[in-house]
Amino acid sequence: MGSVVCGRCLTDLGPVEKRRAFISLLVYGDEETRSWYFCANCRLWMIEFYTDVFMGEERVSVGGPYPEKACEAEVALAKTCPTPGDKWCECEAHRKLGP
Ligand SMILES: [Zn+2]
Ligand SMILES: [Zn+2]
Repeated sequence: MGSVVCGRCLTDLGPVEKRRAFISLLVYGDEETRSWYFCANCRLWMIEFYTDVFMGEERVSVGGPYPEKACEAEVALAKTCPTPGDKWCECEAHRKLGP
C-alpha cells in the first residue's frame, strides 16, 4: 500500500495511517482491503483497493474521486466493524460491503 493522491488537486492523502476507514474483505478467494481517503480541500473521496492475491502478485488500484456524500454511508458502515482487518468477520459491515 502506497500513498493515495487526490484525483482533482493531486494532494497526497497518504500514508495509510491517514485513511478515514478501511475494511478487509474476502473477494472470490482473494483478500481485498478497501481504504477510504478524504481530500479536505476538494471534499472528495478516493478509494484504494489493495488485493492480496493467493499465490500471486498483489494488485493496487485507486478509484475516485467520488463526491463527499457518495461514500459517507459506506465509510460510516465500515467504521462500525470492530475488526475491519479481519476478512473472516461476519458483522453487518462485512456482509454489506462484501461481494
Ligand atoms: Zn483534492
Ligand atoms: Zn466486520
